[in-house]
Amino acid sequence: MNVFPTYNRFPIHLVSGKGTVVIDEQGKEYLDFVSGIGVCNLGHRPDYVKEALKDQLEKVWHVSNLYEIPEQESAANWLTKFTELSQVFFCNSGAEANEAAIKLARKHTGKEKIVTFEKSFHGRTFAAMSATGQPKVHEGYGNLLPTFEYLPFNDTEAVKEIKSDTAAVMVEVIQGEGGVIEADVEFLEAVQEKCKEIGALFVIDEVQTGIGRTGYPFAYQHFDLDPDLVTSAKGLGSGFPTGAMIGKPELAESFSAGAHGSTFGGSPLASTAVKATLETIFQEDFLEEVKAKGNFLKEKLTNNLNQVDLVEQVRGRGLMIGIAMKEAALPIIKKLQTAGLLTVLAGPNVVRLLPPLTVTYPQLEKAVELITQSLVEYQAQLYSKTDAQK
Ligand SMILES: *Cc1c(COP(=O)(O)O)cnc(C)c1O
Repeated sequence: MNVFPTYNRFPIHLVSGKGTVVIDEQGKEYLDFVSGIGVCNLGHRPDYVKEALKDQLEKVWHVSNLYEIPEQESAANWLTKFTELSQVFFCNSGAEANEAAIKLARKHTGKEKIVTFEKSFHGRTFAAMSATGQPKVHEGYGNLLPTFEYLPFNDTEAVKEIKSDTAAVMVEVIQGEGGVIEADVEFLEAVQEKCKEIGALFVIDEVQTGIGRTGYPFAYQHFDLDPDLVTSAKGLGSGFPTGAMIGKPELAESFSAGAHGSTFGGSPLASTAVKATLETIFQEDFLEEVKAKGNFLKEKLTNNLNQVDLVEQVRGRGLMIGIAMKEAALPIIKKLQTAGLLTVLAGPNVVRLLPPLTVTYPQLEKAVELITQSLVEYQAQLYSKTDAQK
């Protein structure tokens, strides 16, 4: 085998997909409630994005940032349209977007310390890894960058103690990889207030929560928040690899010519994917539907799983839902795969659901049915085992 074994892969080979449905090599159909981990927000091969990319494929694929790229300007215009932010730096992934945010924060403030939170996930490059508050991500790499500090998530008192030598505080509105853990509004407001007080940048990592996932363009828009920087990737290009850092107008001069760059960032193809994706998702009707479908999913699951002891909590917003269990969630993920539903772990005990935002109500109902059935069966299995051990 020639690929580094950095991933624990399930023995499933998906060969085609359309919308929420994917098909494996054996012809077995699945409902895809992973969406490439929140990437295929418009489902697989969305027609509108496909047509836009086809047109662009016939024009030009890659142009260096040495030259003007009007597609990049229109993508940036869409990204900032419903925010107080105005400047976009395009890159190719979530880690790179956070990397850019960390660099910009240090350059703009002249300070070095970056505060993040326990159980956060910000990516795998050296700075993004150092920003990530999970020891298992750091393991084996020796000293991390020295200027990162982790505080307990949702701990408003700890936020009040943040010192003035801080360049930025970076936070997820819902911790995705950490276990679909929602930030309290008081906590987010405390972070914002502290940043204003000490002249640090308030950075929100929306790599997983953004691009309509929770029913708003960005999840921070559920609240009255005013971040200095927002990072995006995952759903941004409907599967075309791309990332972006979005910032307030006054930050523009700190990222002047030569300060940062990316060969591929914001290429005509990537920008076309971004523009077509946002044109579809950043529409009021579309986002209202996401909210309604999210509420439907959460309510149905909450009602059905109320009686299942194994389940601790159903949580999340919009179409980012976590089923927190009292036991390891991996056996459930596997059971659901067999039943024809793809889901993804978040932390050891949480089954995470990230369906395409275009998922239909019948598909949501089917997923709820499969989840309920699998959990009830698994619970019966577990308890009969423990009984047998007695
Ligand atoms: C996935 C993720 C990242 C990293 O994105 P990559 O594109 O894999 O580098 C960063 N932050 C959050 C919140 C994520 O969910």
